[in-house]
Amino acid sequence: MDAKNANSIPDIVTRLRNTYATGKTRSAQWRIQQLQQVKKMTLDNEEKIRAALEADLGKCQQEAWTAEISYISTEVDHTIKHLKKWMKPRKVKTPLVAQPGKSYLQPEPLGVALIIGAWNYPWQLVIAPYVAALSAGNCAILKPSELAENTSRLMAELVPKYLDGDAVAVVEGGVEESTELLKQRFDHILYTGGEAVGKIVMRAAAEHLTPVTLELGGKSPCVVDKSANLDVTVSRIAWCKWMNAGQTCVAPDYILVDESIKEAFIEKLQAKITDFYGEQPADSKDYARIINTRHWARIMGLLDGQNVITGGEGDEQTRYIAPTLVLEPDPESTLMQQEIFGPVLPILTYRKTEEAVHFINQRSKPLAMYVFSKDKLVTHAVLHQTSAGNVCVNDGMMFMTNQDLPFGGVGTSGMGSYCGQAGFDTFSHLKAVMERSFALDVDIRYPPYTEKKLKMLKMMV
Ligand code: NAD
Repeated sequence: MDAKNANSIPDIVTRLRNTYATGKTRSAQWRIQQLQQVKKMTLDNEEKIRAALEADLGKCQQEAWTAEISYISTEVDHTIKHLKKWMKPRKVKTPLVAQPGKSYLQPEPLGVALIIGAWNYPWQLVIAPYVAALSAGNCAILKPSELAENTSRLMAELVPKYLDGDAVAVVEGGVEESTELLKQRFDHILYTGGEAVGKIVMRAAAEHLTPVTLELGGKSPCVVDKSANLDVTVSRIAWCKWMNAGQTCVAPDYILVDESIKEAFIEKLQAKITDFYGEQPADSKDYARIINTRHWARIMGLLDGQNVITGGEGDEQTRYIAPTLVLEPDPESTLMQQEIFGPVLPILTYRKTEEAVHFINQRSKPLAMYVFSKDKLVTHAVLHQTSAGNVCVNDGMMFMTNQDLPFGGVGTSGMGSYCGQAGFDTFSHLKAVMERSFALDVDIRYPPYTEKKLKMLKMMV
């Protein structure tokens, strides 16, 4: 473990800065070797990671594999495959006035990064941003969430065993350690978590003029049009919503369904919950638990006074909350004002597509948005008349499987992005370079200025 208390944090930052100054992290060879180690660390310890995720969240084997373990190995493979290309200068045109010459963007590492992760996908949300920071040639401090304590402990144990300890360190802990970390100067901070702490991170970063990437959340809408294939739609929504018991930043937060298919949609969704998790979801080995009793009580509290049509049961001791459907909640209720981040799915209806679009646009810009429809006009209207970090048409969160799609929010759901080349670019400075030759030193730009020189300049640009 690198840091047991906040006192050692400045020393760790100094160690990483000294490493960065040696230039060691700049070579493609070092980066690729370390990336291979990230993959090895994750795959060698699959069983330990799975067990930690189960202890923290009751996460089942398949969800641990797809969303945390294979997610990282795929991200590493993609990064290694493209790294040398990403590192190359990116040529741009050079104007006539600067000829002969060439212009390009030269990616260069930023220095020492800070990565603060959230608890819901506690391995992925720290290691995937680190893959990006590492690929760009940075040193980094990793701060996993203290709420997923088993995964945090395991990360602190494994990182020094597999990775270059002069270039990366894990700092465990909560507010005290994060506060101390944020006093330090970093060259980039990537934070994943809620809006309130996002503001704290951004304020602290401003003190050092450190750029930030904020991966936040929000209420992600899901529009179900009457033309949608309902059987496929409910399977995909149910999978996306109740994976990790709804504790997924891109899970549908609420449904907007065309009124004419409301009953059929609800019936099929109810049947799908039983298909997936049985009559007693509490007994399903595939159904996760809420991270802690504070969040359990918060989610249960959202159900007060609501029209619960499915589920609604909870057990504080095991932090279980059943897959729950709420029909037509008051848009002003806390359920519809706060990000749910749990297994409760409100269902609201609309009559015209414009109503659904208007409802979405009245709220903060979401992290994700989904529209299920065979009607191109409906899809087009929802897609082009609203704003969201990421969108999936006719599926839920499958954009996460494509490394060529950057992942990030807009407005209050975040700023900046990562994943694939977007991650490499986030942790790089694209240095703008123009190289000129000594040839053709035409003197029209030099004083003394004359009418003739100005005229010629005007002709050239
Ligand atoms: P959390 O409680 O784990 O907090 C996130 C991180 O912030 C932790 O590492 C924590 O130690 C740190 N932190 C807490 N208080 C702090 C403080 N005062 N100063 C500095 N750091 C502090 O996670 P959370 O906030 O409950 O996360 C849930 C939110 O995260 C949801 O809104 C969800 O949508 C969002 N989220 C977003 C993404 C994404 O990729 N965009 C992914 C997962 C979760």
